[in-house]
Amino acid sequence: MTPARITLHDKTFEINIPERQILQAIEIIAARISSDYAGKQPLFLAILNGAFMFAADLLKEVSIPCEVSFLRVSSYQDMHSTGQVSEIIGLKEEIKDRHIIILEDIVDTGHTVYALLQNLISRLPASIEIAALLLKPECQQHPLQVKYIGKAIPNEFVVGYGLDYNGLGRNLRHIYKLV
Ligand code: 5GP
Ligand code: MG
Repeated sequence: MTPARITLHDKTFEINIPERQILQAIEIIAARISSDYAGKQPLFLAILNGAFMFAADLLKEVSIPCEVSFLRVSSYQDMHSTGQVSEIIGLKEEIKDRHIIILEDIVDTGHTVYALLQNLISRLPASIEIAALLLKPECQQHPLQVKYIGKAIPNEFVVGYGLDYNGLGRNLRHIYKLV
């Protein structure tokens, strides 16, 4: 789907970051990771549901041997973070002594990724970094180092490219913001 304006539920959104820009940002991240992790066979842990499209496009551009797995945590309802992160669901891999790269669609308050980090660090990985397609710098409430960032955006609600508004919009190829 490629319309310039879309309506999801009760809200109208317009294109904010076109697909071509998203893919360019992802290529840069993939090149950095391929060089930083040469010889390390990293394990990507992509956070569902939002990061599925980011993970798919990023992994296609990573040129070194790597593994990927998907897990789920949940903290968002409607258009506001609830600030509560429930347990990790779906992590079957042994991460001890592995080089872990968390793939997140967007870091907003940082609650989700911070809680996930603490949990994963307790399992003693060899290293752990975060790659986020989008970052809302004004909203970060935790001391987080996001090593790989696709694009910093202002504090606006966005949908598309994996991101939803109450379930809708994940299939859109561009990123849209509220009109
Ligand atoms: P945080 O815990 O950092 O506040 O929020 C992270 C999660 O909230 C993201 O993984 C994403 O699913 C969701 N989120 C944060 N900002 C937005 C946004 O602007 N749009 C959408 N659709 N989801 C968001
Ligand atoms: Mg998410």
